[in-house]
Amino acid sequence: MQITPFMTDLTNFDVQKTREDFPILHTKIHGKPLVYLDNGATTQKPQLVIDRVRELYEKKNSSIHRGVHHLSEMMTEEYEYARRTVKDFLNARDTNEIIFTSGTTGSINALAFSFGEKHVIEGDEIIISEMEHHSNIVPWQMLCERKKAKLRVIPFDENGELILNEYKLLFNEKTRIVAVTHASNSLGTINPVKEIIHIAHENNVPVMLDGAQAVQHGKIDVQDLDCDFYVFSGHKIYGPTGIGILYGKEHLLDALPPYQGGGDMIDCVRFEKTTYNVLPFKFEAGTTNYIGAIGLASAIEYVNSKGVENIAAYEKNLLQYATRRLIEVGEMTIYGNAKEKISIISFLPDKIHPYDMGMLIDKLGIAVRTGTHCTQPVMDHFSISGTIRASMVFYNTAEEIDIFIDAVKKAKMMLS
Ligand code: PLP
Repeated sequence: MQITPFMTDLTNFDVQKTREDFPILHTKIHGKPLVYLDNGATTQKPQLVIDRVRELYEKKNSSIHRGVHHLSEMMTEEYEYARRTVKDFLNARDTNEIIFTSGTTGSINALAFSFGEKHVIEGDEIIISEMEHHSNIVPWQMLCERKKAKLRVIPFDENGELILNEYKLLFNEKTRIVAVTHASNSLGTINPVKEIIHIAHENNVPVMLDGAQAVQHGKIDVQDLDCDFYVFSGHKIYGPTGIGILYGKEHLLDALPPYQGGGDMIDCVRFEKTTYNVLPFKFEAGTTNYIGAIGLASAIEYVNSKGVENIAAYEKNLLQYATRRLIEVGEMTIYGNAKEKISIISFLPDKIHPYDMGMLIDKLGIAVRTGTHCTQPVMDHFSISGTIRASMVFYNTAEEIDIFIDAVKKAKMMLS
């Protein structure tokens, strides 16, 4: 069989040098070099981020926004510097538009609650899509239950692309918000979000984009997109866990009530009545994950130093190579064949259970995801119980893809 070559000439990216930045990539699993293809679940951390977090705990740790002492002031400045870094990364207009949360899930729950309190009443409708992660389904469902509102769902076609003609038909005078994923974690589809936003805005409806699988793969410009809200997680873009972002246009955030009460989010507390702090602090009750926020800023600076365009070009090349090689193996279905994809491949070899293959190739040092990937409606669409998902980023190599393909072939032979 002819082996598809990897088009090294298509990208100008030093992957071996990049791999040196990630200590975990030199680990052995079951005595074999780790081949980490579970980046959709979480990405590995460069030494620079690990060092940064460690340095903060070792030398600078102190609660922010509260003290006049040196450490507290220094930490507060670093935290607000992190906010500016995120603002620049997303090309937001103002730091008031950047809220630190615990992650994508935290951001969506915050928005669904707060937006729901302000804008949703009985009989209203919320549009999501059939390819959403459970994190972008359940919080809206909970809101619908609270308010007796209704969820409307944009379907996708057999390639895993949203059917925009059907989407347009979902709008009516009761539609309050559209919440869709920028890129699908189980199909890899990059959605035509500009068009989705344009259609919503023609109907005077705001849009939230779930960027959990998009920020690490390409340039995000919230002003150019004209999205109203954008959310993502730090741990999926080489940053620490437990930190995430809720971006919102300032006038929209300003109009929303806080979703949590506590320290730092207040202006004046009296038993009769409490008044709230201004943006962005109104949405950051309690002691935030300030170390995580600063670690996230370091991760963003790292990504910027590699060049978002270089990363995107390299990953696109790797996706094409991996897809071609997997097709060469034969007797399997690839789920998600959209024209625009992030570097994720979901597949299922004929007559083999995804868990069996996942467990076998784990013994060869390969980490892939198996199961529903928190997108049960996607699995229902195809009437399958789950897939195997290989999700690649810029530190993965063509050689790793070859090892993975050999392992898939071996496991296939053993299991058939
Ligand atoms: N949305 C998408 C598209 C995801 O892929 C994920 C995580 O896999 C999430 C939301 C939830 O992210 P987190 O668990 O970091 O909150």
